[in-house]
Amino acid sequence: MNKIILSLFLFFNYQFMDAQQFANQLFNAYDDFKETKLSHRRFKHADIVPLIEKLSEHDDFKVVKAGKSVEEKDIFHITYGQGDIVLLLWSQMHGDEATATMALFDLFNFLSADHPAFSDFRAAIKNKLSIHFIPMLNPDGADRFQRRNAMNVDLNRDAQKLEFPESQVLKKVRDETQADFGFNLHDQSKYYNVALTENTAALSFLAPAYDYEKGINGTREKAMQLIAVMNETVQQFLPGHVGRYNDDFEPRAFGDNIQKWGTSTILVEAGGIRGDEEKQLNRKVHFCLLLSAFISLADGSYSSKNVAAYEAIPKNDRKMADLILRNVELTADGKTKSVDISFKSDEVQNDDATAFYNKGYIDDIGDLSTFYGYTEFDAGAYSLKKGKLGEISDPEDIDQLKCLKKRYGDLLWPGIKNHFKYKHFDVNIHERKEEMEDEISPGKNPSLFLVKEGKIRYAIVNAKLIKVQ
Ligand SMILES: [Zn+2]
Repeated sequence: MNKIILSLFLFFNYQFMDAQQFANQLFNAYDDFKETKLSHRRFKHADIVPLIEKLSEHDDFKVVKAGKSVEEKDIFHITYGQGDIVLLLWSQMHGDEATATMALFDLFNFLSADHPAFSDFRAAIKNKLSIHFIPMLNPDGADRFQRRNAMNVDLNRDAQKLEFPESQVLKKVRDETQADFGFNLHDQSKYYNVALTENTAALSFLAPAYDYEKGINGTREKAMQLIAVMNETVQQFLPGHVGRYNDDFEPRAFGDNIQKWGTSTILVEAGGIRGDEEKQLNRKVHFCLLLSAFISLADGSYSSKNVAAYEAIPKNDRKMADLILRNVELTADGKTKSVDISFKSDEVQNDDATAFYNKGYIDDIGDLSTFYGYTEFDAGAYSLKKGKLGEISDPEDIDQLKCLKKRYGDLLWPGIKNHFKYKHFDVNIHERKEEMEDEISPGKNPSLFLVKEGKIRYAIVNAKLIKVQ
């Protein structure tokens, strides 16, 4: 009897707490649920298999193998809850977009934990929702840490043709479950910003269009309402860092088609956050926003949101760079002009995709007043000099800062080929002389130096500003 009264109390107590208060509590308790076996983006299919096997032993979860990838790796379909509202979440359709997969394993820990502070929430989710998960839809791409699958195809252009087994799994589970809501979980480039601001687009949302006219039917409207809730969640933790993705209709994409097939579909794109290269903060916010969406679906509160709240989310833009030097004095042919220079970088990975380094390049030169840098520096009081090429016989002996103080931004070492680890250095190490790029031009990667009163103050190597003095 007491138990009934207690659970009634908890039920009503929970009714008075909205999705945002819940998200806030989750944020503070996150460490209790974080899946510590996943600690960076470059985990493999083999890393998640034991976690899924463990989950299959839990009474509240049902785990089935829904199909296999091109290279015959298992793609799992995990189910939780027995409610009437059916959800389907899939992550890592693009193999190098791992943030949401990490958050899903945190979520599984939350749902399987016996945490008294959240037992009423978990009960509400379990009783009102039936949730289907496909974590890591593209295991072959994930193992290579590449966007495309093993046959170099972008699965997000295969929703109509369904040529590939990974696409067939998603379509099959969507059709079997006839999900009311779909969560299409991706990562976007770190160079997206919230339009007209220096804020990175840490999270971007979209209720994809189902036709070229971008109509809004009941299915799409519900997705917009739920996004309004998820936006509020992110704003709590990363104010001003949410963008609304472009809604041009793409007839071959999954989000657009799943919306068309009658599942209210939400695209979530995890972007960049300053200082969060491995996306562990983004993962934490992801965990909170998915659970706040679940709770607002369970109690129906999302339906009080309107389309205008969705449309008020500022647009995504793509105006970030790793580094912008402002007011640089650039000299050529005896003429000196003041310009901004922006730098970006690509991740270059080793053969088994377990490690990477950032290879920088100049992105643009000129008036870059509409662009924003993760790092910005006013170089107006400095003169710009190119780096020099030195030679070394063993990188273990070199003092990187000392090299930079002498303006050696590039070093020649014929043995670099098989020594990937030295690519992380703050000086560029080349196998051959011809690899050094010294042109100040878009696409090139010169090492540059900022000099003041005859002294080298800063170096720019691989899109990174390094303080020398
Ligand atoms: Zn993607």
